[in-house]
Amino acid sequence: MSEKDKIKQLEAEIEQLKWQLAYAHEREDSYRKAILQDSVTYFEINVTKDEFITSAAQMVNGEVRDLFEFLKIPPFKKYTDYVKYWIVNTDEKDRDRYNEFFDLERLKKCYEKGKYEQIYESHTIDVFGRRRLCRYCFLLGKSELTGDIIALAFAKDITEEEEKRKILQASLREANAANVARHTFLSNMSHDIRTPLNSILGFAELLTKKQDEETIADYVDKIQVSGKQLLSIVSEALDVTWMESGRAALSEAECNLENLVEKVKLQMSPEALKKNIDFQVDYSGITHKNVITDPVRLNEIIYQLLDNAMKYTAEGGTVKLTVKDGAFAPRGYATYDFIVEDNGIGIDPKFQSRIFEMFERENNSTASGVFGSGLGLAVVRNIVNLMDGKIIVNSEPGKGSRFIVTMTLELQEIVSRDETATTKEPVIDYEALKGKRLLLVEDNAVNMKIAKALLKNCGFEIDTAENGQIAVDRMKEAKPYYYDAVLMDIQMPVLDGYEATRQIRHMKRKDSNLPIIAVSANAFAEDIEKSKLAGMDDHCMKPIDIKVLREMIGRVMMEKKRMSNLPEV
Ligand code: ADP
Repeated sequence: MSEKDKIKQLEAEIEQLKWQLAYAHEREDSYRKAILQDSVTYFEINVTKDEFITSAAQMVNGEVRDLFEFLKIPPFKKYTDYVKYWIVNTDEKDRDRYNEFFDLERLKKCYEKGKYEQIYESHTIDVFGRRRLCRYCFLLGKSELTGDIIALAFAKDITEEEEKRKILQASLREANAANVARHTFLSNMSHDIRTPLNSILGFAELLTKKQDEETIADYVDKIQVSGKQLLSIVSEALDVTWMESGRAALSEAECNLENLVEKVKLQMSPEALKKNIDFQVDYSGITHKNVITDPVRLNEIIYQLLDNAMKYTAEGGTVKLTVKDGAFAPRGYATYDFIVEDNGIGIDPKFQSRIFEMFERENNSTASGVFGSGLGLAVVRNIVNLMDGKIIVNSEPGKGSRFIVTMTLELQEIVSRDETATTKEPVIDYEALKGKRLLLVEDNAVNMKIAKALLKNCGFEIDTAENGQIAVDRMKEAKPYYYDAVLMDIQMPVLDGYEATRQIRHMKRKDSNLPIIAVSANAFAEDIEKSKLAGMDDHCMKPIDIKVLREMIGRVMMEKKRMSNLPEV
């Protein structure tokens, strides 16, 4: 081959190599781009020689850029110089770990030990000046050509990924906690319900045998006590679950704080008497007593705290309820402190932080044999929160406890300036109620028998109807004012209590406005609201507390007298 041909051939080979090189670069670029789709920075280094093999590539708005060019700094030749340069962007507390991870000697040792993949995460300031969480990954290998250890390094921004992971972990933790709570709740409830139920069934069984009068009275008393315990557990459990479901709502009504406190005093007095407890009530420190609040819920708070104070105070002890003005409140509002204190067994400081959790009871209360489910204070805390109030406890074991509820309440507009002129609760003439005829609507035969007997004992005349349709028919057949009031169950076959009430209210007769009271096991606020919407005057919860029901019948009849021509009560 002539010299000329040789040159031509060499030129062709060079051309070919150039083309291959260009092709290789192109492929390298697309590989980098593919790698950088998932990472923000990428580079290759010669670990043995402490050199960059390729300049560092950086993803900027979807484009692959040269990192050093982008940062407007001279390109680093030595890898260790770059590591020293970049450390200022790492949190101070992470710098030792940073130096350790990027150390060349360590990377060499990792390769020798076969640990080819090295990962490290830390916070860093990125090329845009933002503080981000980065994951660095070094893949270690050996160059077939030179035998040098080389590393492909990637940095990935995992800030969002980490945030999502944290959120997922928190939801998982919450779901697990909810599961555990549900399980604990069910097993606690099962235990707490079975205990009084066991004694009810046990004593009832004993009563089927012949017993002397004294024993019968004792067993009946025990059944009543257990029944009341059962009722309090179920009510408290429903209350707590209802509130924790986030569906509980407060009602608003005019309320006289003195009357409310007097009412609770009356409720608590029998218990105080039974235990010979010196029970004091002091509301002399209230400036404004007429407020707008949810009186039932406020009553529940005070009642529950007083009930505990009585329970956990020995015979002959002292329990005191004080209501007084609290700190400053905005115009139209007033802040009140409701303080319940006793000189009872007290509460261990370690237990005080758990006292408002469900089912939490201190060992000494369990051991003292005092009945309790550990739900009362959970109910109190939920109501206080719902009312935007605050509750704290101070207590010393053996000395006593003090619970302070602080609440800001809206003041009623004072029409007469004279706050003492507050509406007094109407006085019900129970004698006058005797002989009044009630239509008792109830589909359950046992409930019907109990209600009928209880009402007859109060002197009422009772007609019965087994469902809403029969009640409507009875009303149609009766002459005007034949019935003085209707006691209406809600859930019934054929026609329920709501519909029956609606039909009665729409009857074209003079007494279609007669008192109708729901007597129902539906116990939530929304059930009470539904009864009122259907046209009922009030809602009495089952199991029937005859004193409450009698008072309700009397009150509604008195109120209705003003609106209709009902015969005088
Ligand atoms: P319980 O039904 O057990 O009384 P609570 O939720 O009302 O449930 O109270 C939780 C626990 O707090 C009680 O079991 C008792 O250990 C403690 N506790 C509450 N009030 C008092 C108090 N006034 N004195 C001493 N301990 C109390």
